[in-house]
Amino acid sequence: MGLMTKAEYVASLRKLKPTVYMFGEKVENVVDNPRLRAGIEATGATYALAEDPEHRDLIVTRSALIDEPINRFNNPPASIEDLVARVKINRLMGRRVGTCFQRCTGQDCLVALSVTTYDVDRKYGTQYNRRFIDFLKHMQRNDLTANAGVTDVKGDRSLSPKDQADPDAYLHVVERREDGIVVRGAKCHQTGSLSAHEIIVLPTRALRKGEEAFAVAFAIPIDAPGMIHVVGRSSLDTREIDGCDCGNRMYSKYAPTIIFNDVLIPWERVFLCGEWEFAADLVAYFSAFHRQSHGGCKAGKIDCMVGAALTMMEYNGTDKVGHHKEKVIDMIHRAETLYGCSLAASYEGKRTPSGTYFIDPVLANASKIHEGREMAEATRLMIDVAGGFVSDLPSDTDFENPDIGPLLKKYLKGVAQVPVENRVKMFRLIEKLAMESADTVSDIHGGGSPAAHRLTLFRESDLPTKIRAAKRLAGIED
Ligand code: SF4
Repeated sequence: MGLMTKAEYVASLRKLKPTVYMFGEKVENVVDNPRLRAGIEATGATYALAEDPEHRDLIVTRSALIDEPINRFNNPPASIEDLVARVKINRLMGRRVGTCFQRCTGQDCLVALSVTTYDVDRKYGTQYNRRFIDFLKHMQRNDLTANAGVTDVKGDRSLSPKDQADPDAYLHVVERREDGIVVRGAKCHQTGSLSAHEIIVLPTRALRKGEEAFAVAFAIPIDAPGMIHVVGRSSLDTREIDGCDCGNRMYSKYAPTIIFNDVLIPWERVFLCGEWEFAADLVAYFSAFHRQSHGGCKAGKIDCMVGAALTMMEYNGTDKVGHHKEKVIDMIHRAETLYGCSLAASYEGKRTPSGTYFIDPVLANASKIHEGREMAEATRLMIDVAGGFVSDLPSDTDFENPDIGPLLKKYLKGVAQVPVENRVKMFRLIEKLAMESADTVSDIHGGGSPAAHRLTLFRESDLPTKIRAAKRLAGIED
């Protein structure tokens, strides 16, 4: 079928019939629900980019597997150039949509499976890699989007999966049948699960002997029987439903919890089943890649924040104020160091035995730690420059009210030559960039908790070389 246009992508989602709940009610029409549509539009931008002559060369590549042009979001990197392109695309996309475009998590799963299924087959003579390659061809031929089902709900964090009072706290196999496996559990923070065609499920953590039932990886369409998507609340979510005060006119992010209520997974879609010692590898490859992905998209989001801060300076008449310029410089510095770290993780990538390239995990984790702190600082600086109306601007409906609208327009006017409507729109965008919880919490927890980023950094760093360097200088020989 080849590359889909954005219109074909939206049409392809209409053919799916997922079970969805939001705000206590069943959602029958996902695509036309304004809250969900704003997220679908953000993923749709990855399809639109492939149609755009200006960016097509960056986002479209040729698949060695199917010998056809494909969207890079379905391309496990086979070179340093591919690794670098991931970051550049993410920055461009982040700048274009100003929020999460929800297509990288699936790509990060494809990469993790590409490397790990190869390694499992080498050890056990299993068929996982052949199945995975068949699935990858299906994704590439049909230009599909996948979502990552990684984070389990986890129950009591002090207990391992097999010791939980409720064994369903971690997704696991409840039955092995001739036609496949039956799984039960729930995956949370499923960014854009309804903007995707497929869910790729991986274990959420390293496992031990005795936890074979939890060592499971597979892919399944988002509307498979037994799957229930429950859309999570976020701070500004009813704005799209109300149809006003959205800030970002086109795009947003949502993240359901998906319940797997005894879902049958055909064997052809099973990529790990019982080989517990490879759960850690899947988690490590996925999370390192996703942490690198963030470095691109969040740098792009800071670009939007810088643009918003500079525009507000112009609208407020503070564009010559020195300390405001300094704050914008501090924001730009944060975007570029984040981007640089993510690019460096790509340039230092290495080929794995599977042929897929893996980024440098130390640099990828350094990038993510940097993001967790510095996105908050960039947000603070943007709000500082913009002013207090980021928090309590009257609604668009008040501006349209014939009794109070003219008064509001009079009193919220900034510099004379800028229409008050533009100033109001920019305050709204800044509110969305700063306070959309579905997006801002991912700066901290996306790709794992900050503690996980730090532990990985310590574990993956070449500490002996650093110790030897210090001892050599001090004249210590041992
Ligand atoms: Fe992609 Fe994650 Fe960034 Fe969303 S937050 S755009 S899924 S890297």
